Amino acid sequence: KDVEDVVSAGFFPPSYWQLLNRVAEYYYTQLIQVIRVALPPGLLGRSQRRIRLIKGDKRDSPIPNPQSPIPNPQYLSPAARQILEILQAQSAGDYSFAYLQRQVRGAYRAVRELLRNNLVESYLEPPRKGRPKLQKAVTLVVDVFPIDVTQRQREILEVLRRRGGDLWLTELLQICNASSSTVKTLEQKGCVVIQEREMLRSAAEPALAEDQPKELTNDQAQALEVITNLSGFSEVLLHGVTGSGKTEVYLQAIAPILESGQSALVLVPEIGLTPQLTDRFRARFGNKVCVYHSALSDGERYDTWRQMLAGAAQVVIGTRSAIFAPLPRLGLIILDEEHDSSFKQDQPAPTYHARTVATWRAELENCPLLLGSATPSLETWVNINQGFSRESGIEGIPNPQSPIPNPQPPITHYLSLPERIQSRPLPPVEVVDMRSELQQGNRSIFSRSLTEGLQQLQERGQQGILFIHRRGHSTFVSCRSCGYVVECPHCDVSLAYHHTHEDAAQLLRCHYCNFVRSHPQSCPECGSPYLKFFGSGTQRVAQELAQAFPQLRFIRFDSDTTRTKGAHRTLLTRFANGEADLLVGTQMLTKGLDLAQVTLVGVVAADGLLNLPDYRASERAFQTLTQVAGRAGRGNDPGRVIIQTYTPEHQVIQAVRRHEYQSFIETELQQREALNYPPYGRLILLRLSSTDPAQVQETAELLAATLTQKDEDSAGYEILGPAPATILRVANRYRWQIMLKFAPDSLPHLPDFTELRFLCPSSVSLTIDVDPLNL
Ligand code: ADP
Ligand code: ZN
Ligand code: ZN
Repeated sequence: KDVEDVVSAGFFPPSYWQLLNRVAEYYYTQLIQVIRVALPPGLLGRSQRRIRLIKGDKRDSPIPNPQSPIPNPQYLSPAARQILEILQAQSAGDYSFAYLQRQVRGAYRAVRELLRNNLVESYLEPPRKGRPKLQKAVTLVVDVFPIDVTQRQREILEVLRRRGGDLWLTELLQICNASSSTVKTLEQKGCVVIQEREMLRSAAEPALAEDQPKELTNDQAQALEVITNLSGFSEVLLHGVTGSGKTEVYLQAIAPILESGQSALVLVPEIGLTPQLTDRFRARFGNKVCVYHSALSDGERYDTWRQMLAGAAQVVIGTRSAIFAPLPRLGLIILDEEHDSSFKQDQPAPTYHARTVATWRAELENCPLLLGSATPSLETWVNINQGFSRESGIEGIPNPQSPIPNPQPPITHYLSLPERIQSRPLPPVEVVDMRSELQQGNRSIFSRSLTEGLQQLQERGQQGILFIHRRGHSTFVSCRSCGYVVECPHCDVSLAYHHTHEDAAQLLRCHYCNFVRSHPQSCPECGSPYLKFFGSGTQRVAQELAQAFPQLRFIRFDSDTTRTKGAHRTLLTRFANGEADLLVGTQMLTKGLDLAQVTLVGVVAADGLLNLPDYRASERAFQTLTQVAGRAGRGNDPGRVIIQTYTPEHQVIQAVRRHEYQSFIETELQQREALNYPPYGRLILLRLSSTDPAQVQETAELLAATLTQKDEDSAGYEILGPAPATILRVANRYRWQIMLKFAPDSLPHLPDFTELRFLCPSSVSLTIDVDPLNL
């Protein structure tokens, strides 16, 4: 399409533009898709073309008296005259072009005619959400109040003065319980000025007490020293066990950046889940901290985005897409919990990983990138430059001899925080074999160890965390008589049982498409009344807790209880204030919580994490369990972790028990290397989906055949599939996939995906997932 109008010039500096192009290229997607991720959604809404009359004084018109209404000159076509009449009938003389098109036949030509004759002008109105929000503000402009202001007016002026002489009109009216005409009178008397001003839409955050930099431990000080002395682009890994004070290092690394007038970007896994972290930043840097993530409204995102663009020194904390924050003077990028899979977008395109984009961005902006984790990803681990293994005194860091087909440059600095703050020990991890519990007659979901641990909490005035792999009550409902399992009508998965307290309703919910149905009274298949719940989610555990430990106060913390805005913060605050003894929840408990009173961490059943059909299952299970365990003993009281499992001998469980990151990761790397899996070989996953099961399968077969043919000329990758996705149908779409597996040195021979797109019928959608994480 033609460019209609340039809204603002110079809005992407060349390096930013390069970044977007690089993402489009690497992830095989169109530039516009990348722009959609990078810019706030409000800005990319539809702009509207509007047509308005040129008012008399501006009009350079052939009509004799420019002050008179336009007399529908005879030289205009009937359609043009009709449009003039419509515009004149409205006081502003202004309509959307779409409206005129609906009213008048041949409106397009007629408007062009009017434009040529200088009778109307046309303009683009930006999308509603992508506009500043203007509000009336009242400013006090006199020191001494004139004598003719009456009592009521005087009160208003007093309030204004007390509040610093400047307030939003609505706020002032509310405080004084006055009407706007009174304020207008004061304006006429020259006491105040009323002006439209931009009001920033930002989520209200509670005020915080100021926080001073802490005195660093030796390890922290050493790490900070290296970071603050970096100049230009480099990639640094800060490998610190849970509770070792990584966040304090981030804070002190950012301070000098802000002082020099530059900005810092901090990416975190899921921001709604970590109000604690944003609070720590706000307590240190006050209103220089902006938060940017998808839970904000479009208006809030648009305003924050413009604030970033304005370029004052600031700290932006955000999730995945904040890697595109338009900060003009970027001095440092930090990725906290760099191993977390939420940094990867699976769908829609671009299927980018924020860590990959961050390395490019740091390179283009010539600034350092700091990756932080207690359990670094294999990708990052393999990138560590061999030279640093000696310098930091740790052994066994793998030396990647073969060129790694990884887009990321090697890590130049390895910084380690091997101990917790104040030499607090890492919590001992006890592994309980649930098989022997059963043999000894314990049928409860709580082992004797965990039971004892929970009982002690209240006695000792301490708090605990209970981790459950799933939300809801039971993972599926099945008939005892015929074995029927209640499934989602739109997806190939069983429905999970949920119990809602509000109306005591019993619901079955699909965790993929959110389909909900009532719980059947009897088996839909055989009519038997004996339906049984299997598996246990947070609800079920909560119920059993209430039965077994009636005196224990607990808070459920999962996506069911944190749906409303601010719920994370409310629940965590209640917990931190000691209103409960136990926090019971899912995955979201693992991310960055720093609660000093928590001494006990229990994992109800680790097995759900271990047995996932994915080559990364072990790595992920290890990371999750280590992170959950890391919530215990962060304060003065020592911690304790209890992991319940049916496979205590599993290597992941053993590694977590011994806090052995390194040996675990090395075994894992050897396996990946032997099978050519990442981070050695690379993967590209073609995801196809359609509502038509036959068509998606046919297309998948056609694409695979095409690729196989090409493979013969330019070998270098292996084709796995086509195969149906692990769950074939989700929300009525059937999903197939083809995996391309590249040997480490085969990168130059990438297939031409544009051609493949042409082979897809319009009913089949194709997403190219480069370096897929979630298979
Ligand atoms: P991590 O991010 O590595 O898990 P945190 O930064 O959350 O660790 O630190 C754990 C706890 O130790 C926090 O409560 C933090 O305030 C505190 N802390 C960090 N550094 C210091 C220090 N140098 N002196 C005292 N307390 C510290
Ligand atoms: Zn049945
Ligand atoms: Zn479903």
